[in-house]
Amino acid sequence: VESSVQADMERLQEDFPGFRERYRLIKRIGEGTFSTVFKAEDIHYDLYDNSWDHEDDLSKWTPPPLKGRSSRSRSPRKRSRFVAIKKIYVTSSPARILNELELLHDLRQCPSVCPLITAFRHTDQVVAILPYFRHGDFRAYFREMTIPDIAIYLRSLFTALKSVHEHKILHRDIKPTNFLYDPTTQHGVLVDFGLAEREGTDSKPCLCHEARETRKHRQAGSVWAQTSMNTQPGYPKSDTRPSRRANRAGTRGFRAPEVLFKCTEQTTAIDIWSAGVILLTILSKRFPFFNSADDVEAMIEIATIFGSKRMKAAGLLHGCVFETTIPTIGQQGFTMEKIILWSTCRAEDKPLTPDEKLAIRFLERCMELDPSRRITAQEALDHEFLNMGMS
Ligand code: ADP
Ligand code: MG
Repeated sequence: VESSVQADMERLQEDFPGFRERYRLIKRIGEGTFSTVFKAEDIHYDLYDNSWDHEDDLSKWTPPPLKGRSSRSRSPRKRSRFVAIKKIYVTSSPARILNELELLHDLRQCPSVCPLITAFRHTDQVVAILPYFRHGDFRAYFREMTIPDIAIYLRSLFTALKSVHEHKILHRDIKPTNFLYDPTTQHGVLVDFGLAEREGTDSKPCLCHEARETRKHRQAGSVWAQTSMNTQPGYPKSDTRPSRRANRAGTRGFRAPEVLFKCTEQTTAIDIWSAGVILLTILSKRFPFFNSADDVEAMIEIATIFGSKRMKAAGLLHGCVFETTIPTIGQQGFTMEKIILWSTCRAEDKPLTPDEKLAIRFLERCMELDPSRRITAQEALDHEFLNMGMS
């Protein structure tokens, strides 16, 4: 592994003319489906120009004269800084890469969103340069968080979501690894706009946007999660019915019900659901909380909590009939309080505190099955829970 990281770093330095003079690669900090991220020292920090459309060609950049450099090193104010260099895999389409950079550029002034410093391209390789943000590993700190800690964490996340959503952008991949949080300073930044899109992109009218009255009189359109044809409990493995197309980009376990129901008119509310899943994870002390292999399994997991009655109603919003014969899915489901008590193995003699109950009330507002009733980022910031200890 070590040598492949070394080779990766060598290649990056060689591919981009002038790279070595400007950045000193330190280590690899992330490797995902779409990119590899490195930590580097930005040697000429104070010469930065924040407009990426201007400084897009690293080969045209020349290091400053030596004299300037030595005087800088004597000055205690001017230090180098650390950056995160995101090398986007060449298999990503140019349109997709451009989309990520453009959205980041639009969001550059937003609080709690990691800004884009600049970006470079060399032939088919694109790298994005972001300020390095020190953060903890979610798995290492989430079980230790107190209720006030959780409120501070979420305040930071919802601050980012508020500005992203004000720009009419859906992040689409809200999850712990895309929200970098430092539990010691209690600051966080939202990263990874690789799946983000502007609201309305590829969208077609969905039943859920029609007035409630009209919807009631309309026949449900596509039948998708129906299992009643089976006499055996379960769901069809090879479903031959025509499928509906909808964007389902995101991460397993964090997808909102409307994404699973293939709503064709998805809104920023999908990010709020995912943020709710993060809160559910923290409160239940279980990561990952949902652990499904596919979308149908994900629906089963959600239906187990919410019950078939509410799940059915949620499907109908988008013209889907949800039927199931799975015996573990009850009609009524369970309350979030019950789910959290069970998953943390809390005994009856240790009831939930008022603060915990407040957090759960907030959780229920984030995990509303109906996206139009779900709390918005602005409403969340006004919610009593996120204002704990702020008076
Ligand atoms: P991907 O599309 O591959 O998921 P991300 O933008 O999510 O790429 O980055 C992957 C990982 O790299 C993150 O989970 C984080 O650990 C690290 N990372 C990304 N940006 C930064 C940053 N600005 N500062 C520090 N670490 C970062
Ligand atoms: Mg990511």
